[in-house]
Amino acid sequence: MEQKTIYVTKPYLPPLEEFLPYLEQIWNNRVLTNCGPFHQQFEQALCEHLGVQHISLFTNGTIALVTALQSLRITGEVITIPYSFVATSHALLWNGIKPVFVDIDSKTLNMDPAKIEAAITPKTTAILPVHCYGHPCDVEAIQEIADIYNLKVIYDAAHAFGVQCHGGSVLNHGDLSVLSFHATKVFNTFEGGAIVCPDAKTKVRIDQLKNFGHVGEVNVVATGINGKMSEFNAALGLLQLKHIDKALSRRKEIDLAYRKLLKEIKGIHCLGDSGEEIANYAYFPILVGDDYPIGRDELCQALKDRGIHPRRYFYPLISEFPMYRGLPSAHCDNLPLATEAARQVLCLPIYPDLELSVVEEVCRFIAEQ
Ligand SMILES: *Cc1c(COP(=O)(O)O)cnc(C)c1O
Repeated sequence: MEQKTIYVTKPYLPPLEEFLPYLEQIWNNRVLTNCGPFHQQFEQALCEHLGVQHISLFTNGTIALVTALQSLRITGEVITIPYSFVATSHALLWNGIKPVFVDIDSKTLNMDPAKIEAAITPKTTAILPVHCYGHPCDVEAIQEIADIYNLKVIYDAAHAFGVQCHGGSVLNHGDLSVLSFHATKVFNTFEGGAIVCPDAKTKVRIDQLKNFGHVGEVNVVATGINGKMSEFNAALGLLQLKHIDKALSRRKEIDLAYRKLLKEIKGIHCLGDSGEEIANYAYFPILVGDDYPIGRDELCQALKDRGIHPRRYFYPLISEFPMYRGLPSAHCDNLPLATEAARQVLCLPIYPDLELSVVEEVCRFIAEQ
């Protein structure tokens, strides 16, 4: 095994010399933020690349989530899942909204649409599902329920950059979708995020909210926040777009290698492709079953001792954190499948320049336990 430490991901960066002309332009024109030329170009380029109508860029995915909920004036209770990164539920608390947790589907580890109806109360205003690991939710079943009960649907699409299902971008489902361009994500601008929305009117409101609620020089129409992406991040995003296809095809190679090498190992289950027509190979989650010789945590530690650092995404469940665990819906009896997944999951290293020899070494190590 290689001596150097291998982490679950390594941020993808373009060659530095390719970024210098962008920096020169910023230094020359002195427009650093406030929706300058790179911000506008990047919004346009993303719409084309992703196949969506409107995009509003943000400083990060969390502020984008908080703003998305505000833009649709969501209040009361929102149905969401505990099996995600904590920012999903935090965005609700930042808006004074009560999260109501429902369980996940054991195959996709996404929100189980069959669990939604029982969680609806007169206070429910929206559903906040997550395309976990970039695998699309059952968008049609979720929309059907939302239509019956007149609920908004906001997707936490932080993992779902470039994913397609039902013949188009997964980001075109629901009322809004929120992306993250954090360093650890498939597509990064160091920090960054975006809201995808289907109509120009909603984009105007989102653009106001991310700029303090300002309209023109002297009017303030909402209690907005400062969520604008800077010119530095937008310029980097424009350049990153030129490299994303290459990066995704490398990820695909690694994904295929893992699947092939882990297939025969008893007790190790690779999460399947869950219906996406174009995947982004953002993560490589495995489930360590009870028929594997050692437990998930033991395997995780053994790999770490060998210099390989997998991550237990998502353990613990959001519903176990102190600000959530008192909620009636946070009880583990309500969330048996999420609890089970959190106990078994391990995300293995995957990133564009991960060498296949490391993938082989990891799989051999897992097979030998
Ligand atoms: C990364 C992530 C976020 C937060 O995005 P940031 O850009 O880091 O603020 C939200 N939800 C999920 C599921 C994430 O993985």
